Amino acid sequence: MSEAVAQTVASRFSELYGAEPDGVWAAPGRVNLIGEHTDYNDGFVMPFALPHQAVAAVSRRADGVLRLHSADVEGGVSELRLDDLAPESDKGWTAYPAGVVWALREAGHAVTGADVHLASTVPSGAGLSSSAALEIVVALALNDLFSLGLRGWQLARLCQRAENVYVGAPVGIMDQTASACCEAGHALFLDTRDLSQKQIPFDLAAEGMRLLVVDTQVKHAHSEGEYGKRRAGCEKGAALLGVDALRDIPYAGLDEALARLGDEEEVRRLVRHVVTEDERVERVVSLLESGQTRAIGPVLVEGHASLRDDFRISCPELDLVVDTALTAGALGARMTGGGFGGSAIVLAEEADVDAITKAITEAFATANFPTPRVFEATPSPGAHRLT
Ligand code: ADP
Ligand code: MG
Repeated sequence: MSEAVAQTVASRFSELYGAEPDGVWAAPGRVNLIGEHTDYNDGFVMPFALPHQAVAAVSRRADGVLRLHSADVEGGVSELRLDDLAPESDKGWTAYPAGVVWALREAGHAVTGADVHLASTVPSGAGLSSSAALEIVVALALNDLFSLGLRGWQLARLCQRAENVYVGAPVGIMDQTASACCEAGHALFLDTRDLSQKQIPFDLAAEGMRLLVVDTQVKHAHSEGEYGKRRAGCEKGAALLGVDALRDIPYAGLDEALARLGDEEEVRRLVRHVVTEDERVERVVSLLESGQTRAIGPVLVEGHASLRDDFRISCPELDLVVDTALTAGALGARMTGGGFGGSAIVLAEEADVDAITKAITEAFATANFPTPRVFEATPSPGAHRLT
């Protein structure tokens, strides 16, 4: 299948630019199994790669020009001069790949230009990291074409910088690292403080289970402002408690930390979520490592309750997915991603998948919510060269 996709993207490249590409690369979107809103608190996350991916055909240029085209966006080829690239100068989709080139050059890497055509099957804006897939696929292509010798985690750091500074979005390090470093059949246990990582076996199909992603297709308007408020609240909590980041509050010291926060009720709730969420990630890791995969279900449900009640970033659509899935027999379910819409995940026995999907679809119709998109997510390979 990948070969056919690579072929399609390569032939469109040839039509656009009049020559065959030097190569074709792929980078996936991701879902986060557990570890939500911990990445900007130096904590733990546990994403795995989706089968959905961004695919880019790329050729190198030597003349300081960057040409960009996406199969998924109306409009022709955008042509930019590398010397003109400047943070927050571009509000369109081209800011993501241009930002990657800018970040590589800023870091001293000799990238002299490129022609890029890309196409992606990662749903955009659904909390499944279509933006990181776009960045990583371009970064990996340039890493190969200009023999930069950068490792996956280094590409992730540069892509995060591209998104933070060039695009102007204050995202953590999880999405880019997941896209660059995940492996098929595994979830990635990542310590976002030092980027140390461990591949944890997560082969649900072999055990008769499935993981569903339910994209609610809603995005509530205030979500970006709320994300900023949560980040600021977490920083305030760390400052009040005298630590660099909330990651430094051990789970065993949570009650004492909460007591010290006195009447800072909102900060107390944020701190409680982050500290308990880090503990949940560690619990999921040890359950998976000891072969108790079904037992992670209740941990996912605890995580959802914490995001809903303490972090307060769920919404009626996400709660409806989780409640309906559990009633219909799911092993576990929770919202994933930034919140206020986007996607939820559901862990289920293979035999229950159809009934759960039907129950969710019907519940959404009854509530007059948009029809959700439901698909199975198999832990898939991270970024790699196709041809
Ligand atoms: P998410 O990463 O959760 O999907 P973001 O808002 O971070 O959502 O990124 C979505 C943006 O990424 C889109 O608005 C668009 O600018 C860019 N993007 C995603 N996929 C594509 C694509 N196939 N072609 C061009 N731009 C894309
Ligand atoms: Mg994104």
